[in-house]
Amino acid sequence: MAEYMDACLLHPTLGYYTTRPVFGAQGDFTTAPEISQMFGEMIGLSLAQAWLDSGAPAAFVLAELGPGRGTLMADILRATNAVPGFTAAAQVHLVEASPRLRDEQAETVPRAMWHDSIDELPELPLFLIANEFFDALPLRQFTRTEDSWSERMVGLSGGALSISAAAPAAYAPLETRLGDTDPGDIVELCPALPGIITEIGRRIDAHGGAALIIDYGDWHSQGDTLQAVKTHAPVDIFETPGQADLTAHVDFEQITLAAAPARFSRLTPQGVYLERLGITARAQKLAEQLEGPALDAHIAGHRRLTHPDEMGRHFKVMALFASDAAPPPGVET
Ligand code: SAH
Repeated sequence: MAEYMDACLLHPTLGYYTTRPVFGAQGDFTTAPEISQMFGEMIGLSLAQAWLDSGAPAAFVLAELGPGRGTLMADILRATNAVPGFTAAAQVHLVEASPRLRDEQAETVPRAMWHDSIDELPELPLFLIANEFFDALPLRQFTRTEDSWSERMVGLSGGALSISAAAPAAYAPLETRLGDTDPGDIVELCPALPGIITEIGRRIDAHGGAALIIDYGDWHSQGDTLQAVKTHAPVDIFETPGQADLTAHVDFEQITLAAAPARFSRLTPQGVYLERLGITARAQKLAEQLEGPALDAHIAGHRRLTHPDEMGRHFKVMALFASDAAPPPGVET
């Protein structure tokens, strides 16, 4: 399944992120920074406050994983321009696998440097954001048997893509899940996630900094959460490989298990997080300059980002921070 997902998303000539305009009304899905500039403004000021609280280091890495069109980073940089010293101290680094999206990001964030992996970032204090990044990483799925696990494999059956079951086997990372699942249940593992989180945690603890991870998902993966979305509607994952977005829920518990020596915050709903940072006051301020359809769109955007029935509850925020520091504003320990 992980190999299928990787090929669908990042194949150099047939992959989803490498070949298609994926974001916004013309694309397949809309992310928070594409809904309203306020999202990036709140994130930016939260990171800037964390930077101030850590003693305002004179050089630091401002990093984003999977920046899409670069909108979020552009909004972060615009909002933090008002924080004395922040912009001059920030070295902007983007981790992006798609050459096509790198080109788009070069338009929105001209001062950035690009990387294939977080390992390549300079060893400096690290302030990092990842919005809807971990949900795009390939995952493996396993069906619980009596006392072990059968991996769900993608193959061809009669010329059509289909799922089959591998011979049951024990998997060390799933050992603890025998305790909270029943035979027939499906659990998911994201093989790349622990290595990325451990590297972020090591850097933050060694040099200072903070990371904000925002995604849909929950504590503990349970069930098949893999979904394909095309032109804003769900499709079968095998219907149009490489032409639909493929994502899965993020298992935040896996993040906490890999974060040491950095600490992690509570899982905070996105709506609560943005309210705590003052998004409503900001929304009112911006509304003063708007009228007609622009005002309606602005109000709808605020609602979409924060309301529990929209993105407010479904999306969660978790921060990683140094063992001797307080969490960034908006989240709590
Ligand atoms: N954060 C953006 C876009 C989210 S979509 C937003 O909020 O709008 C996922 C992003 O992660 C895309 O930019 C995609 O190309 C990138 N991506 C997916 N898999 C990746 C990988 N393995 N390494 C680096 N970037 C990846």
